Amino acid sequence: MEYVRCNLCDSNDYIPLERETKIVSLKPPLTLVKCKNCDLIYLNPRPPEEEIRDIYKTSNYFSQYGVTVDNYSLADYVKKRLIQLEKSKLPSRRILEVGCGTGHFLNYAHNRGWDTYGVDISPWVGKHIKDELNLRIFIGELEDAKFQSNFFDVVHMSHVLEHLRNPSVTLRELSRVLKKEGILIIEVPNEFYYLRYKIRLLTGHPIFYEIPSPHLFFFSAITLKQIIQKAGFRIVEFKTWSTGGPNSKNLAKELSKKVIYSLEKCCHSGNIMEIWAVKK
Ligand SMILES: [Zn+2]
Repeated sequence: MEYVRCNLCDSNDYIPLERETKIVSLKPPLTLVKCKNCDLIYLNPRPPEEEIRDIYKTSNYFSQYGVTVDNYSLADYVKKRLIQLEKSKLPSRRILEVGCGTGHFLNYAHNRGWDTYGVDISPWVGKHIKDELNLRIFIGELEDAKFQSNFFDVVHMSHVLEHLRNPSVTLRELSRVLKKEGILIIEVPNEFYYLRYKIRLLTGHPIFYEIPSPHLFFFSAITLKQIIQKAGFRIVEFKTWSTGGPNSKNLAKELSKKVIYSLEKCCHSGNIMEIWAVKK
């Protein structure tokens, strides 16, 4: 096991979160803790580097979520994100995706004429993207890819930041490789801070969750903004939205779900967060 300091403020002062540790089904000594100084929630202690790397080595990581290269399709809202980028005044269309998964986003961007670069830690992903999609991909950590400074117009990172061993270092590297005023788009889950979670805790209902969690960090809107700003970015847009929850044929239940989703959206407490930031 490895003990780490807070990745946001470098403090070593934290409190264990017993309830949250139980919810994500972590086995001792793995524990979720909250930094006493900045409130960042993180796994501490956590498995050593090699063990974490092993999780992503094969297609098993994806198949446990029912994802294969053939059955996965890119969501419409992600396509719209790229179209929105095309409307902004970028000097060129060079995009980097960190943690490119099955490569669907990179492929979509490539087909729309973008100059695409991918980075992923999984050799399985890399082989698929290189051999079958015929796209550029670096297998390993972003820092080892050694991209030129001020090189990219856009960086896209979806459901990746919470898996990284050192998100602050990766964000600083992204700030280096992005052009000035280059755009960084990050999507992460809003775990332990979304409205339904709080309601379930208040009413004593169990929480649905990926078990066990492969996440090392659990950002709130505040800690997410802070860690991005600290790496040299200015936040230009922040929003949340809602996913999940069982589908029901019961009209009243579906209606109440819709009401809660709308409520979550308008008070920025959905279970997914999206940030657009520009390099200062
Ligand atoms: Zn901290």
